[in-house]
Amino acid sequence: MPKDLNIAGICVPPGELRRGTLPALSLADGTNISLPLLVLNGAKDGPKVYMGAAIHGDEVNGIAILARALAQVDPSSLSGSIVCVPVQHPLALQSDHRLPVSQFLKSPLDQVPHDAWTCFPGDPSGNIAQIVASTLFGLIRQCDYALDIHTPTRGGRYVPIAILPHPNLGAAASRAEQMAHDMGGGWIMKGERGMYVADGILCVEACKAGVPCFTFEIGEGGRLEEESVATGARCVLNLLRSLKMIDGKLEPARKTYVMRDFLGIRANQGGLLVSIATLGQEVKAGDPLCRVINVYGDEVQLVTAPQDGVLVRTTTLGSVSQGERVATLGLL
Ligand SMILES: [Zn+2]
Repeated sequence: MPKDLNIAGICVPPGELRRGTLPALSLADGTNISLPLLVLNGAKDGPKVYMGAAIHGDEVNGIAILARALAQVDPSSLSGSIVCVPVQHPLALQSDHRLPVSQFLKSPLDQVPHDAWTCFPGDPSGNIAQIVASTLFGLIRQCDYALDIHTPTRGGRYVPIAILPHPNLGAAASRAEQMAHDMGGGWIMKGERGMYVADGILCVEACKAGVPCFTFEIGEGGRLEEESVATGARCVLNLLRSLKMIDGKLEPARKTYVMRDFLGIRANQGGLLVSIATLGQEVKAGDPLCRVINVYGDEVQLVTAPQDGVLVRTTTLGSVSQGERVATLGLL
C-alpha cells in the first residue's frame, strides 16, 4: 500500500497533492531562492517520476505544459507519484533569458560553468549553476524515471522532439528510448555526438545514475504558445500512460521520424531572414530552406539543404549575421 511521500520536507499522503518550495540558494540581500515544487502521491503503488522544465529561463512552454498535463492527473486514481519542478532555475526565469544574466554580468568568471543544464550531478559547494544542478539532482536520483522539458533559446523553434542520451549508457538509455516512442511527439533524435549527449547534461547524468531520462524540446523560446502547450501536455500524459500510472490509450503521433544526427546550417551573408520550408517537413538535398535578403531587398543567399533530412529547428529571428544558424536538419 502507498505511504506518505516526503519530499524536501513536504509530506504528501496517498491520493493527494501538495504545492511547496525547495530552498536552493541565497542572494546578496538575503533573499532566498527556492524552486517551486508540485508533488502528487498516488493512491496506488507505481513508479516515482520526476518532471522538470525551464532550467533555461526563457523556455516557458515547458512550465505551461507541465501545469496543463498534471491538472488532468487525479492523485486518487494515480499509480505511483510525480515530483514536478516546473521552474528548474528561477533566477534564469526572472531574467527571462536562458541564463541568470545579472549574476553572469556581475562576475563572469565565477559564473563559469554558467549553464545549470550542463552541470549535473552538480556541486553544493560550487557556483550558482552547480548548486541549482545539485539541488535538482537530489530529487532526480530519488526517482525511477525523469523528463526534462526545453524549448530552443529565444529566436529558435523546434518540432516536438525527444532527444535521447548517448545509447552507450546501457539499460537506462534503452528504457528512455522506449519512453520517447511512447510519448508520441513525432520526432526522436538518437545521436552519438554533440551537446545533448555530453557528460554533465541532466538526462545523461540521470541515466548514469540509473534513472531513464531524455530531453524533450518543443516550440519557441521566449514565447508561450497554445499549440505547443497542447501538444506537450498530450505527450506528458502519454508518458504517464505508458508507465501505467494513469489509465487511457496512448495517443501516438501520425508519423515518427527517428534521426541520427543534427546538421546546423549557417548564413554565409548577413541580412533579413525569410523562411521557405515548413518546420517538420522532410527535405531533399538542394531543396530551399530559407533566403537571406539585404536591406535593399536583394536576395544575398538562398539557403538550401546540403543533405536529405528533416527540418527540425528553424530560426525565427528577423535578421541574422553571417555565421548565425538559420536552420537545423535532423539526418535520418
Ligand atoms: Zn533549454
